[in-house]
Amino acid sequence: MNSARALPTRALPRRLHLEVTNGCNSLCTTCVRTRAPEPTVELAPELVERLLAQLPELESAALQVNGEPLLYRPLPWLVRELVRRHVHVELNTNAITLEGEMARSLVDAQLPQINISLDGATASTYARIRGVDAFERVLRNIRHVLRLRGAAPAPRVVLWVTLSRQNIAELDSLFDLAVQLGVDGVYLQRLVFFGYGHARAADSLHGRLTRGQSLSVARATVRARAAGLDVAASGGHAPDAMHRGLAPDAEPYRACRRPSESAVVMANGDVVPCCIATFVAPRDAITMGNLKRQSLAEIWSGERYREWREGLRRGEAPEACVRCGVSWSL
Ligand code: SF4
Ligand code: SF4
Repeated sequence: MNSARALPTRALPRRLHLEVTNGCNSLCTTCVRTRAPEPTVELAPELVERLLAQLPELESAALQVNGEPLLYRPLPWLVRELVRRHVHVELNTNAITLEGEMARSLVDAQLPQINISLDGATASTYARIRGVDAFERVLRNIRHVLRLRGAAPAPRVVLWVTLSRQNIAELDSLFDLAVQLGVDGVYLQRLVFFGYGHARAADSLHGRLTRGQSLSVARATVRARAAGLDVAASGGHAPDAMHRGLAPDAEPYRACRRPSESAVVMANGDVVPCCIATFVAPRDAITMGNLKRQSLAEIWSGERYREWREGLRRGEAPEACVRCGVSWSL
């Protein structure tokens, strides 16, 4: 049994994930919104203003959950607001429309970091996984934003690769492409699967990486770092260790600190405890409250959030949590 320490919950979250829109221009075969598209909803700027006023000590914000944030027209305003408050902002995007006035405004707003999803080193692998034929356009936009940045330190540009059986053979080429493009790093993201498209157990590497594959990942990482890339993997693991699966009775979820440190705000104002839960559980089961009706402090200290945290600590995890660390890295 895992003996997770009962670390104190912060008075308010220090990190936010904001789903500024749930609309998207991609059709990734690993995404819940492709499986079950919903009418587009956008986070109202007034709600964002009210929320930020409640969080004077906010440290960081990630601007995306399940949707493409470049489709949110007030995005440059939001980035400027957060930067003005000294919040570290990361924009997670597919970069399909990272061009024109939007790209320039984000660079001018001194956005600290852009994480760009690129799940293949070839147009065909990209299209197979991401569901749209946009590989060359994304590469063009990455080069464009790096040109706009010039010698300035921001935005830092990182490629996000959801590693699976569909693309592991291209990892070396992805690192080479990252070096050629001149980005700052590559982040290897976990595949959270739910039985749809390429989000299936058969596509996952977790607990299934062969010794040969593990050595290849380790060697590719050494080579990429020697070429100057910052390479990291989900859960803070070494890239060749992120797929080590644990047995369910190890209860790895007990170490999860997300519901005690960060909050996820969905486009309709729902607050949920983490992004992973949105992939594996129905919305009703994970909604802690809604910002249209309650303050964040009320939701954060409310009974549903407290029960969720206590369940993790006691080893009586909510249904959404039991596969974290077992089926994908925590
Ligand atoms: S993973 Fe992101 S880019 Fe792909 S369909 Fe989902 S929201 Fe859109
Ligand atoms: S689903 Fe996973 S990441 Fe989310 S709160 Fe549960 S254990 Fe933590």
